[in-house]
Amino acid sequence: MTHPLLDLPPLTAERFASIEQGVADLLATRQDVVITQGEALLPLEGCIRSGARPGSTALNIVTGPYGTTFGTWLRHCGATVVDLAVPFDTAVTAQQVARALAGHPEIDFVSLVHAEAATGNTNPVAEIGEVVRAHGALFMLDAVASAGAEPLLPDAWGVDLCVIGAQKAMGGPAGVSAVSVSERAWARFSQNPAAPRRSYLSLLDWKERWIDSGRHTLPHAPAQLEMLALDACLDRIAAEGLSSVTARHAAAAAATRAGAAELGIAPYVGRASEAAPVATTLRVADASLVVAKALAADPAAPLAAGGGALAQEMVRVNHYGTAAALPVVRASLTALAAALGAEPGTALAAADSAWAAAA
Ligand SMILES: *Cc1c(COP(=O)(O)O)cnc(C)c1O
Repeated sequence: MTHPLLDLPPLTAERFASIEQGVADLLATRQDVVITQGEALLPLEGCIRSGARPGSTALNIVTGPYGTTFGTWLRHCGATVVDLAVPFDTAVTAQQVARALAGHPEIDFVSLVHAEAATGNTNPVAEIGEVVRAHGALFMLDAVASAGAEPLLPDAWGVDLCVIGAQKAMGGPAGVSAVSVSERAWARFSQNPAAPRRSYLSLLDWKERWIDSGRHTLPHAPAQLEMLALDACLDRIAAEGLSSVTARHAAAAAATRAGAAELGIAPYVGRASEAAPVATTLRVADASLVVAKALAADPAAPLAAGGGALAQEMVRVNHYGTAAALPVVRASLTALAAALGAEPGTALAAADSAWAAAA
């Protein structure tokens, strides 16, 4: 019996290279793009283990849960880690980063998360990139939750390592990710004797065995399903236009905030300018119970309680991908209103006008 997902021919090197080019176009980057066949934590760990080593000092900017993970990897690599943590309901500022760099001239690696889907904040990467570039450190950005949801310009912003995943605003599968790698980053990796080689975490393997040999022969059998899905998601974004896709996410965030305010719900991230377009986080008491009731009213609403300690105080509205749409925002607000025993009317009207003003 034939099956649409089975018995696929191997993906050709040519197709693989053209999908890489599609990612490079999405990021408007002229740097090398390596597609990594695994969830985005694979290239994030690969970047840190390739760039950090005993004797290096890293500034790890913690604005949400992923920053904590990066700190663990950096320390495990033997790097000295300077943590710059800010409350998860705000953004870090370029001034704070500049102060941290000035206080530790030896910093040679900076890790930052662009947007945090888990906590709903987003950081001013363009401004931070400027101070990191002036200092001269290698700059790694986790853009998994921002790619497709808001402007992302690694070359213009001086990002040396920009990691994306397909599973958030791009609307793709979780099993494939990518990283753009600057010349400076490649040089640093190749000078690092501890950088992974002949390893699933190795980015240098891909450079030496794939990129430097002209992208003619793939070193391993590629993950066809994920690659085909990534290609489809790049095509779909190109067809809609990247700026329309990001505008849709910004409108969804504005509409959700406006509607929630009418329900008497405060945003978790107080300043709208610091709120990520990928997902809106809300301060709700007994959040887990509220989400359970809301999902009982509408099982399709993209609502979740916060993770870990935030489970009792935060509701996440995951309006990303195809869920960055006014009907989905309206459904989410209606379900939340039902859970709170409120009438949704004014919230829906506020969401409609915020959407119209933003879109
Ligand atoms: C979603 C996300 C990832 C990927 O991690 P998952 O645990 O698979 O969700 C990495 N970084 C950021 C900032 C994310 O939002």
